[in-house]
Amino acid sequence: MTTLKKVKPIETYMGRLRHGGDLLEEITDFCIREKIRLARIEALGAVQKARLGYYNQETREYQFFDLQRRLEITKLTGNVSVRDGSPMVHAHVTLADDEGKCFGGHLAQGTVIFACELIVQAFKGPLFERGYDEDTGLPLWDMEQ
Ligand code: ZN
Repeated sequence: MTTLKKVKPIETYMGRLRHGGDLLEEITDFCIREKIRLARIEALGAVQKARLGYYNQETREYQFFDLQRRLEITKLTGNVSVRDGSPMVHAHVTLADDEGKCFGGHLAQGTVIFACELIVQAFKGPLFERGYDEDTGLPLWDMEQ
């Protein structure tokens, strides 16, 4: 069933991420530090290299691939919710090369920041907790709570 719930914007944070840091870890660490459990995130910038995932719907496993090149972050979009009691960042990115050709996927650990400007819009609202979803095999939001 399609279910959406109301959330209310509270704080919005804007900042720059550390050169050489891991993109997913830096965002996750920030959310843990600020106790952000519900948010939308958006970023742009550039990476020195990237590791992305593609969820194979047949095998129900992520296939990860590495891009050993310097790329622009043309768009990072995602959300923050709760998994196993702590904040979890789920983000997808589109990365462009020197000809504007793009790669995209599920952001994984191993993506190294060259420069990154991040916006985190925190919400208050019901608990969005991830649990195993039978239909997809993914840790999706349990909307029954
Ligand atoms: Zn994903």
